[in-house]
Amino acid sequence: MTLLSVRGLTVRHGNAVVVDGVDFDVAPGEALGIVGESGSGKTQTALALLGLTPGSADVSGSIRLDGQELVGATEPVLDAVRATRIAMVFQDPLQALNPYLRIGAQLGHVLEAHGLSTGRETGERVVAMLDAVGLPDPARQVLAWPHELSGGMRQRVMIAAALIAEPAILVADEPTTALDVTVQAQILALLDRLRRDTALLLITHDLGVVAGQCERVLVMDRGRVAETGATRDVFGAPSANATRALLDAVPRLDAPGPAARDAPGLLAAEGLSVRYRARRGKALAAVKSADLELKEGETLAIVGESGSGKSTLARAILGLVSPAAGTVVYAGQALARDLVDRAGTTRRDLQLVFQDPAASLDPQMRVSSIVGEPRAIAGNPATAGEITAALADVGLDTTFLDRYAHQLSGGQAQRVAIARALIARPTVLVCDEAVAALDGTVRTTVLALLREIQARTGLAILFIAHDLAVVRQIAHRVAVMYLGEIVELAPGNELFERPRHPYTRALLDAVPPPPGEAGRPAVLPGEVPSPLSPPPGCVFHPRCRYAEDGCRAEAPARRAAGNSSVACRRAEELDLARGRA
Ligand code: SF4
Repeated sequence: MTLLSVRGLTVRHGNAVVVDGVDFDVAPGEALGIVGESGSGKTQTALALLGLTPGSADVSGSIRLDGQELVGATEPVLDAVRATRIAMVFQDPLQALNPYLRIGAQLGHVLEAHGLSTGRETGERVVAMLDAVGLPDPARQVLAWPHELSGGMRQRVMIAAALIAEPAILVADEPTTALDVTVQAQILALLDRLRRDTALLLITHDLGVVAGQCERVLVMDRGRVAETGATRDVFGAPSANATRALLDAVPRLDAPGPAARDAPGLLAAEGLSVRYRARRGKALAAVKSADLELKEGETLAIVGESGSGKSTLARAILGLVSPAAGTVVYAGQALARDLVDRAGTTRRDLQLVFQDPAASLDPQMRVSSIVGEPRAIAGNPATAGEITAALADVGLDTTFLDRYAHQLSGGQAQRVAIARALIARPTVLVCDEAVAALDGTVRTTVLALLREIQARTGLAILFIAHDLAVVRQIAHRVAVMYLGEIVELAPGNELFERPRHPYTRALLDAVPPPPGEAGRPAVLPGEVPSPLSPPPGCVFHPRCRYAEDGCRAEAPARRAAGNSSVACRRAEELDLARGRA
């Protein structure tokens, strides 16, 4: 039996054909994954299913839901179908939720606009749905505004809004891409549990997520279907080059990374603390007395969930936020707290690459000016030859010199951002989620580029990331942060094979297994607590399966354990080498 039948679906934007004759079927209750690189047409396909492509797009072919043709249907017909028969969960819930409506009202509107309930019954169904998606105290949360919730909570609300009318099919477009690995595991488990008879069309670039959720997969490449079949078969024995390229780009947690280096220290944080002033004069401790050392020529990764303080620590090291206490030492010298007070040479030596290359490049400047900017600001303008050489270093030729940022792909823009950082010939590059927004194959190329530059120049890299499989590929050592504290710091291979802190173990267990391999991500219950009211004792104890009375009473200091250091009072007795228990 077929619930959704798509035939010859084609979407054109002007002369560009972004979806080109796509065919697929979805049976009731079935989960179909659609995977592909950015620009492969997967999101455009999803938008066409819901009649949400922009008005200028030309959609042709056939989309039949329960036999009803949706291509060319009138807006009132599509309105009736959306939410009740086919619903969508978007990547960014903050954009998808109405910021001016309390969340209870948003869910209630779905029911009442389609005549599914009224008055008191609506209220009861909304509270029951919020309860089902795991929102704490749902009767109170109906009055919350979207901005008052964490990213994970907002995604739960999106799922509640999509499922409340019990649609026949749920289209989820990158529903976990913006989330931490631990929250991702929670949301995937939730989708699995709640959708029951609802079919799922899961659009993602994460093949591990599809492998765990979907019986069938469809691989898209440049607007067309490259391959489709049972997920196990397609990932186990791919027949299309596009599928092989996607699979080759999946980083593996179990593939050994670079060995720790024995090299002199270059940059250190000593007892660095960052505090922000919050409401009613309360102080929020974003980073608490962090100690770490980056060695010459090494990559030190800092990982942890959102709110762990990893980006704030990096920014304090760079002088972009002013620490409340502690010192940053570079090449044996204590640095001024604020960037403006640091010597020009030090500012040149420490460079930063941001997550979103498009947003970090000035849209009004050509690539040649963007790359030369740091030297121009330093009063030492780069020659045309130096700019060309900097671009060549990141694999871009002279045809890029005159382009603007909007004329670059995500990967090209990130290369330009790296070239801009490297033209100053820094000794330290801080990469803040610098590959998080890139597709698998582009990410692989940028990581290889960083490794090659490091091998050639001895560059030290502070690599802030939440994707642990990516971190394993590149980091010599890894620091794990939780609620502003470094809870474990260890050589990369050791940390991945024998974590010593229960939080590190939980982070590793939340990563979906590679496509084609058995197992499911394990859910770490709860969320990172508010730094305004951190738990007493060990800050991880409310979520730790190994917590005992002493953990609630006393905060463990980080202490040496072999080549590592760990802040867990039970580190010596726990054997955390085996995961997903
Ligand atoms: Fe868990 Fe206790 Fe160790 Fe904290 S100190 S991580 S609560 S076992």
